[in-house]
Amino acid sequence: MYSDFQKHLQKELQAIEEAGLYKQERIITSPQHAAIRVSTGQEVLNFCANNYLGLSNDKELIKAAKKTLDSHGYGMSSVRFICGTGDLHKELEGKIAEFFGTEDSILYASCFDANGGVFEPLLDENDAIISDALNHASIIDGVRLCKAQRYRYANANMEELEDCLKRAQAQRHRLIVTDGVFSMDGNVAPLDKIYELSKKYNAMIMVDESHSAGVVGRTGRGTTELFKLHGKIEIITGTLGKAFGGAIGGFTTGRKEIIDMLRQRSRPYLFSNSIPPMIAAAGIRMFEMMTENNTLQDKLHANTEYFVAKMKAAGFDIKPTESAICAVMLYDAKLSQIMASKLLDKGIYVIGFYYPVVPKGEARIRVQVSAAHEKEHLDKCITAFTEIGRELGVIA
Ligand SMILES: *Cc1c(COP(=O)(O)O)cnc(C)c1O
Repeated sequence: MYSDFQKHLQKELQAIEEAGLYKQERIITSPQHAAIRVSTGQEVLNFCANNYLGLSNDKELIKAAKKTLDSHGYGMSSVRFICGTGDLHKELEGKIAEFFGTEDSILYASCFDANGGVFEPLLDENDAIISDALNHASIIDGVRLCKAQRYRYANANMEELEDCLKRAQAQRHRLIVTDGVFSMDGNVAPLDKIYELSKKYNAMIMVDESHSAGVVGRTGRGTTELFKLHGKIEIITGTLGKAFGGAIGGFTTGRKEIIDMLRQRSRPYLFSNSIPPMIAAAGIRMFEMMTENNTLQDKLHANTEYFVAKMKAAGFDIKPTESAICAVMLYDAKLSQIMASKLLDKGIYVIGFYYPVVPKGEARIRVQVSAAHEKEHLDKCITAFTEIGRELGVIA
């Protein structure tokens, strides 16, 4: 039965490998942090995690999770509407809404699920979804599951968005969808302009704050804080798997009726397990920490500013960034792989990205700065980049 299909897969896998697109996974044997240990025994500085606030191995969050294992057990063994709703899930949903200045929130097992389950219950063939071309894969998949008319505009291109909005006047309701921060360049969506256009053309807005929540805005409340639109956006989605502790979980937060409808009809919510109580408890503690002081956000912002300034001064071509993502442009795919490999030899763990992950001829190394990094870590990274950059002729 299997042999024909096996041959087919072997051929496809070989083609992936020959195209140089086969993804090898590096095995980490320590907790996620600024310095990590990999299975070869090498200690490296981690500059490719989404651990923006350094909370992945935070003592307070670990304490909250451990305590909850004793008080609430291990798993929920149920979806939310049967017997998977705990006091901690409700409390965390309240904390999320408070943080983003919204009316209510709904938890999912991931932001992939939140985005997969947000469109289909709210919109149908009478409506329009207008989506940025660089939106995350989970938004693209979510839109595919929905019957709404689809419009697409080039990344952050407001003329194209306006054109889409004009055409979408033919539909009943319009929803503009954008990532808050685009993960390959680190640029933010121009939410101020999107907001103006949404008022002019009677549209709603959804922002996915996965790479921006905890990171962008002085207190880390995301792009809505950066553009002074706190509480004014209809739908925000986000993850607990990046800046917010890095464990697992996603959410949609926004207008009360929208969240209510998602609880009734959103399929990844209705047909998938609740997050474990310990994750909810750590999430609650995390949002408390975010409001107690601004230490982590301040440190992340200072680290990012320092890193970008030093890299530019060293002569590197850095994409304009307003997040903790710093794209070091190399343009050449092979060069990006060689450089990343040489950096790893020097104990700096970064990833080189090239087509099809980024456009052809726009290969780069993406550096992700964290509040877990100390100045010595940043300096070691900058020095390694500078030495290898000179050796490879990337900088003078
Ligand atoms: C990472 C990411 C997701 C997926 O989040 P998970 O919780 O890991 O599923 C969704 N959207 C964007 C923009 C992301 O960057």
